[in-house]
Amino acid sequence: MRTLNHSDQQHFLLCPFMAQGHIIPMVDMALLFAQRGVYVSLVTTPLNASRVRPAIDLASRCSGLPIRLVELRFQSAEARVPEGCESLDTLPSMDHMKGFLEATELLKQPLERFLSTDRDFPPPTCVVSDFLLHWTLDIARGLGIPRLIFHGTCNYSLIVMESLRRHRSAGPEEETVTIPDVPCGLEMKRGQLPVPWSHMGLAEYEARMVKADADSDGVVINSFDEMESQLFEAYKRLIGKKAYNVGPLSLCEGGVQSERGNKSSIDKDKCLSWLDSHEPGSVVYVCFGSIAWLGLQKAMEIGEAMKGSGRPVVWVIKPGETESWVSQFGEGLDWLVIVGWAPQVAILSHKAVGGFVTHCGWNSTIEGLCAGVPMVTWPHFAEQFINERLVVDVLKIGVRVGIEEQVRGEKEMLVGREEIGVALERVMGGGEEMRRRVREVGEMAKKAMEVGGSSYVNMTRLIEDVKGYVKEGECGGEWFVKKSNAWV
Ligand code: UDP
Repeated sequence: MRTLNHSDQQHFLLCPFMAQGHIIPMVDMALLFAQRGVYVSLVTTPLNASRVRPAIDLASRCSGLPIRLVELRFQSAEARVPEGCESLDTLPSMDHMKGFLEATELLKQPLERFLSTDRDFPPPTCVVSDFLLHWTLDIARGLGIPRLIFHGTCNYSLIVMESLRRHRSAGPEEETVTIPDVPCGLEMKRGQLPVPWSHMGLAEYEARMVKADADSDGVVINSFDEMESQLFEAYKRLIGKKAYNVGPLSLCEGGVQSERGNKSSIDKDKCLSWLDSHEPGSVVYVCFGSIAWLGLQKAMEIGEAMKGSGRPVVWVIKPGETESWVSQFGEGLDWLVIVGWAPQVAILSHKAVGGFVTHCGWNSTIEGLCAGVPMVTWPHFAEQFINERLVVDVLKIGVRVGIEEQVRGEKEMLVGREEIGVALERVMGGGEEMRRRVREVGEMAKKAMEVGGSSYVNMTRLIEDVKGYVKEGECGGEWFVKKSNAWV
């Protein structure tokens, strides 16, 4: 029987979901594992691979790290997804979500086939998978190795989502409900909570994910102990599994900042020299992530509020959104309009940026706080309203613009230019205390990622635990002992 011992080489299979907010932090995680000497295979599809290849190539070719991309064809036609739509941000509408999820399920067999003949890397010792890819549990079990899940959000949101799975009640959207299990309590309007999967016709898919989650061996979280210690303990108690805060992953060194997640639509030097020409803390950065959509009415209210503030602005717009209106409106103003993909982390880290108008996607949120930039919060969907609570009520490093409900299809609540202007002024104008606090959180975040910092130590623990699982057959209880015969 082949038994692994501590000197055996670790090889982690990282399986991100095909969406920018999911793949970007997993690429960072992949680099971090590889920097620790773990072999890493990042499993994805050609379009996503082309976006993240610069970072992986830099790490493997220039730094000699044991990391590679495993590219599997995305079977769009088989799942009735439009050709070329391999990432959530490329889907023409969320009506294709069901087919898109089915296409991700079709990756299972090709991955099994690949692994059965692969001799380039040592045998895998752990699967770290996005929670959306439930089928990776079968892969892990087939290989007799643990599966760790990555949700890509903070502990606060994880508790709420886990709590909702158990206690969700139906009722009017405007009704305020208490979320059990949250330390210090949390009340939210029902309409702000993530839309149930069943409302999107995805109840069966959700059931498969929940089951795979329950049978998995632990959770990896893009957060850090110092920021969410009480929430982290509460989350661990709730799920009764191992959990590891290993973030903020965006602070991982060795990536390609200007091509993080995609090729930047603006020359990074041009962007940075524009920022260099502005006073520290004077610029407002507006970006709603990779999926949230900016209709004309919303763009006009934001545009008027920004113009009214008289502040310099960097505004990121997706092609096909309202780019022509925004570009024309910004003419003659001290604005930099980026149509397409922006080097967000580089922008946020620049000292000229003094405020971030954000949709509260977790990556954007944690990138903003790492850079010590206070936020105007404008959540759209998913768990973004919970992230907003963390920013505004717990950490007190942002001001809400006042959105009360999730975007549903075409239906979206808007706020007017006056309210936007007020929130912006509270963040950019006064807000010294808020600024001090966010700088403090940002410093804590950096310390967590340094050698010997909490997230660094947690990652060491994770790697050691995986060695232990494999050696002792502890993982997942009995099944692992049984399945460890897979190594025979
Ligand atoms: N991002 C970027 N440039 C852009 C838009 C987004 O680099 O023009 C990155 C951003 O830094 C973050 C990710 O894309 O890492 C978006 O993830 P998030 O969770 O914030 O939002 P989502 O796109 O999932 O809604």
